Amino acid sequence: MAGRAARLERRGAAWRVLDDAGDELAEAETVVLAAGWGAAALGMAGLQAVRGQAGWADLDAGPAVGAAWGGYAAPTGEGVLFGATHDRDDTDEALRDADDLRNLEALKAVLPDLAVRVASVQVHRHAAIRAATRDRLPVAAGWRRGCSFSAGWAHADSRRRRCWRTMWRA
Ligand SMILES: Cc1cc2nc3c(=O)[nH]c(=O)nc-3n(C[C@H](O)[C@H](O)[C@H](O)COP(=O)(O)OP(=O)(O)OC[C@H]3O[C@@H](n4cnc5c(N)ncnc54)[C@H](O)[C@@H]3O)c2cc1C
Repeated sequence: MAGRAARLERRGAAWRVLDDAGDELAEAETVVLAAGWGAAALGMAGLQAVRGQAGWADLDAGPAVGAAWGGYAAPTGEGVLFGATHDRDDTDEALRDADDLRNLEALKAVLPDLAVRVASVQVHRHAAIRAATRDRLPVAAGWRRGCSFSAGWAHADSRRRRCWRTMWRA
């Protein structure tokens, strides 16, 4: 499907996916919403925005293993990926220098030598909005008849084992 979906409309046994101007992007009996946080704007209730910014740097020698402590540092093969911030109900995707500092401070607190090396090279960064569920479990569910939804962010430290559940029934 090319274009940005703005709303879904039922026509007979089918769903129509419409853009902002009301033009049809697609028509199908079954629609799967896999739009992450974008699903909230399409009417999916029960999601909370959690803004996140992460950074990564190319290093001559990155960490051999990953570490997570609330923050994390993960080897990329070419260096390290580290972060990330968690800001609830914040939907701004603009990159923030202050968030780079927060991530670097978190790294420094646990892996100070690595933080010094990261601070001496160019840090690349990415910010996006996580679609969090109330209980922090991933969800895949029938939402309305013929329309399903999937989202996939859960806390890394969740001790609960049940990974898939039905939240809404068609
Ligand atoms: C900084 C940060 C760090 C993270 N770290 C981890 C981690 O360590 N481990 C982990 O498991 N997860 C992590 N996540 C979460 C992970 O990125 C998401 O759970 C995952 O990307 C969700 O995948 P998805 O395919 O459901 O949605 P997304 O990856 O969000 O993809 C949704 C797609 O739908 C498109 N879209 C949205 N709205 C519309 C629309 N109206 N019409 C058409 N297209 C639309 C978007 O452009 C996008 O391409 C992190 C997220 C962030 C921001």
